[in-house]
Amino acid sequence: MPKILKFDALVIGAGIAGLQAALDLADQDFKVAIVEKDATIGGKMIRLSKVFPTLDCASCITTPKMAAAAHHENITLFTYCDLQSLDRNGNGVTAAVRQKTRFVDEEKCIGCRQCEYQCPVYVSDPEQGGFSGRKAIYIPFSNAIPQIALMDVENCTLCGKCARVCPTQAVNFFQEPQDFLIEAQTAVLATGFEVTPLENKQQYGEGKIPNVITALQMERLLAPHGPYNRVLRPSDGMEPDSIAYIQCAGSRDKSMGVPYCSRVCCMYAIKQAMLLSGALPLADITIYYMDIRAFGKGYEQFFQNAKAMGIEFVKGKVATISEGENGGVRLHYESQEDGGGVTSAEHDLVVLSLGMVAGWNPDGHCRISTGSDAFIKTVKPKIAPTLTEMEGVFVAGAAAGPKDIVDSIVEAGAAAMEASKYLASLNRSVKAVA
Ligand SMILES: Cc1cc2nc3c(=O)[nH]c(=O)nc-3n(C[C@H](O)[C@H](O)[C@H](O)COP(=O)(O)OP(=O)(O)OC[C@H]3O[C@@H](n4cnc5c(N)ncnc54)[C@H](O)[C@@H]3O)c2cc1C
Repeated sequence: MPKILKFDALVIGAGIAGLQAALDLADQDFKVAIVEKDATIGGKMIRLSKVFPTLDCASCITTPKMAAAAHHENITLFTYCDLQSLDRNGNGVTAAVRQKTRFVDEEKCIGCRQCEYQCPVYVSDPEQGGFSGRKAIYIPFSNAIPQIALMDVENCTLCGKCARVCPTQAVNFFQEPQDFLIEAQTAVLATGFEVTPLENKQQYGEGKIPNVITALQMERLLAPHGPYNRVLRPSDGMEPDSIAYIQCAGSRDKSMGVPYCSRVCCMYAIKQAMLLSGALPLADITIYYMDIRAFGKGYEQFFQNAKAMGIEFVKGKVATISEGENGGVRLHYESQEDGGGVTSAEHDLVVLSLGMVAGWNPDGHCRISTGSDAFIKTVKPKIAPTLTEMEGVFVAGAAAGPKDIVDSIVEAGAAAMEASKYLASLNRSVKAVA
């Protein structure tokens, strides 16, 4: 029989929405469990460079929230865990959770990274957009929480150097996954998003054209702790003189199964273009767009500032991309300016503004369905947008649909409020029965 852990509230996903919901509940003295599938909390936000519209350093404003959750006396973190199922159980919910194997004892690891320094294996590091390497035993990044190493068994050569150097004998090649149950009275789903898979768009090269990168990869090139500490194009390390953004590269596109607008791509492209004009003052930056959707507070001004900085906006849909001369990339697009017509242009580096797709499909895990957009369905989207089909289970952030950080945080607060109201209603009915 797996062990059972009891909490007032359960939060699934530790991106900014999950962290905010957990903190809002924990500050009201509820005991909260956070289950996160990654080895670190922080979600996409901790992996960004700076954030629109304030241009705050993402790491500087996310790390305090991560630390606040990790050190909160009412919050328990379960990282590197898979949610197997989530079911109603009496007045609450039961989650079956599997602790995946890090091959490092979580209790013993002190995060000293000696294992990482000694490991002789280098593999491509997805945390740095694949532009630099990491070891086969590693801590995901310098401000990851928790600071516990994990082993990439696919690439480990079993040389044993990590185990020999570990001062606390934490490396365990025989570790097994652990199953346990979490019982809580309420739950918040904050499972976030992924970007549209590039392989689905043959016209944009399916990720195979050198020097065509995704906006998440550009976030890493622009980040203070990025792979090169400067913006270089990946194929040959050249400083690009001309950079292009392709908007709606993974949204408003039925051929990719994403007919909706992902809401954040215009703003993040404008943000990155501004940061690039600081990093590469002589570079030409062009944004190819269908419409600019600068919907939030201060966003239109942000767009106007970008134009004033000399960033070029070309109204036209890019149809195809092909390899150009000397590592360049040729865009073929239909211009909607100057009489229109099909034309082409060549750039040193091209960034695809990919859209947002749901981060998790509840099918097979719990009795909650998704909408036509595959994000978690909300039952009263207009007047109670965090309510799901399961009583006592709420949704927050990009799990319910494409959203920026501000809206994710606001929605997380709303979901926490619904969860705390639900907990209060349970307590009232217990008192009434007594
Ligand atoms: C390139 C790019 C740049 C951006 N720049 C900005 C910006 O400058 N400003 C801005 O406001 N917004 C920006 N955004 C949007 C921003 O990233 C999102 O608004 C924000 O990350 C949403 O937070 P979230 O917590 O809802 O989701 P996420 O950040 O996706 O977090 C979800 C978490 O849930 C976890 N999870 C998923 N499924 C499970 C499961 N089954 N079990 C356990 N855990 C699970 C994930 O591992 C993850 O940690 C950008 C987006 C992109 C793609």
